[in-house]
Amino acid sequence: MKPQVEIYDTTLRDGSQGEGINFSVADKLRIAEKLDAFGVHYIEGGWPGSNPKDIEFFAQAKKKKFKNARLAAFGSTRKKGVSVEHDDQVRLLIEAETPVVTIFGKTSMLHVKEVLRCTPEENLAMIADTVKFLKDHGKFVIYDCEHCFDGYKLDPEYAVATWQAAEKAGADFIVLCDTNGGCLPAEVAEITKVAVGKLNCKVGIHTHDDIGLGAANALAALDAGAIHVQGTINGYGERTGNCNLTSVIPCIALKLKKTCVPAKSLPKLKELSQFVDEIANSRHNPRQPWVGSSAFAHKGGAHVNAVQKLTSSYEHIDPAIVGNQRTVLISDLAGRSNIVIKAQELGFKLTNETPELKPILNRVKELEHEGYEFEAAEGSLALRIQEILGKRKLPFIVKSYRVSSEGGGGKSKCVAKVKVTVGKKESEQEAEGDGPVNALDTALRRALAKFFPHLNGVTLTDYKVRILDSKSKVVAKEALRAVKQRDDFILEPLMRDFNRAASEGTAAKTRVLIQSTDGKREWGTVGVSENIIEASLQALVDSMEYALLKK
Ligand SMILES: [Zn+2]
Repeated sequence: MKPQVEIYDTTLRDGSQGEGINFSVADKLRIAEKLDAFGVHYIEGGWPGSNPKDIEFFAQAKKKKFKNARLAAFGSTRKKGVSVEHDDQVRLLIEAETPVVTIFGKTSMLHVKEVLRCTPEENLAMIADTVKFLKDHGKFVIYDCEHCFDGYKLDPEYAVATWQAAEKAGADFIVLCDTNGGCLPAEVAEITKVAVGKLNCKVGIHTHDDIGLGAANALAALDAGAIHVQGTINGYGERTGNCNLTSVIPCIALKLKKTCVPAKSLPKLKELSQFVDEIANSRHNPRQPWVGSSAFAHKGGAHVNAVQKLTSSYEHIDPAIVGNQRTVLISDLAGRSNIVIKAQELGFKLTNETPELKPILNRVKELEHEGYEFEAAEGSLALRIQEILGKRKLPFIVKSYRVSSEGGGGKSKCVAKVKVTVGKKESEQEAEGDGPVNALDTALRRALAKFFPHLNGVTLTDYKVRILDSKSKVVAKEALRAVKQRDDFILEPLMRDFNRAASEGTAAKTRVLIQSTDGKREWGTVGVSENIIEASLQALVDSMEYALLKK
């Protein structure tokens, strides 16, 4: 069945114009395959006339079979003063051997006169000649109207003439482009309505996100009668980016309730978004709508309580529909519900009525005050909860450790020695490492391996260090805020804390967060100390203990 809205992906062409985005031919092929499997209708592979890498891409892509998508080559109308048959850039479009060719042309009189520097008639001829030439070569032709909205606002009659020139020459689609990304949804809707009224062929929309309205403008055009949206995965693109397809696709399906990509693809949206970020070597944006890791994260105690009773109370959709998931963040703000949900996730049978809940909550707040944070350290949190429930059995104890590091002339060597006791038995091991933490980790694991061979399969996957403000500084900041808000209730105990911290001369603390895996699951643990080695050891010990707990 034909979808009500077609998705045209230009991640590989317009998206690759984004700062820091650089795809190899192999990257492009992998992304194209993924997009095809997801079910977009067109994949714009590149501009063969602009770089040899794109010519190579089309040569390779020719050998692939795409199930859902049609491949498009992108280019421009012929040059002024050159016949279309003799225009190299147009020839390369034919040689790309794609079923679809998309070309852009000028809509705006300003650009015709000042940038192209030709007569208005010559521009119309350039559009018509190129579209007709491509149609004569059997191509499905999409005509992108550059500066469509700005051009229409400047000289509506001429803008319409350019669209009609493309239509008359046989274009299959006329796509209205907000090239500079500065239009408002109402303008886009109004001008799209005009285009739909004046044209017999189908109308599409291509927007940019310069004022944060790329997706909103695309939706406005769809409302006004467009049936084809161009955009990029994760909104990659020049300047602030293109219309973000990972926002627009779920909006079409779930908010406008129109068909676009296959319904079974929607739960793979987050995965697609992460995949493209990974290939682009770009950090996933946690605040990205729909697919970001924070898109369904709840922190405030009251919200968490409500979400627990009724998930729709603070969520606009069920996160699973787009392949995302609900997360509950543990923090100072959190009420008891966060802990209950987190504890249940960790396998504890805890409810809002469990009497131990209050001491657990108090302990978490106390530790957070000392600089711990448990949002990414569920392993450490589980051990603290166990401790308060009286269920923690220490499988081993670190009796002593020593770390030494020496170097010079650009070379360094780190050695760590760790002694552990397990029941009445003792074990001491030494190890060298790339750095002090690596040496410590290896020595600890060696010392424990003889009792717990399972730990040989546990590896460190990430290690993060954060220098925390000294306590007196933190308290001073909080006090300042309380003074500003005239909150005497908070101020008084803060001042007491402040005086104590100042008299102790508390030094800056280090928080170490480590991520571990046993090949099946990942977990985080945390350590805090004024000494970075001590903080690391705490996190390592928690990690090993948690690994044994989960075995
Ligand atoms: Zn663009």
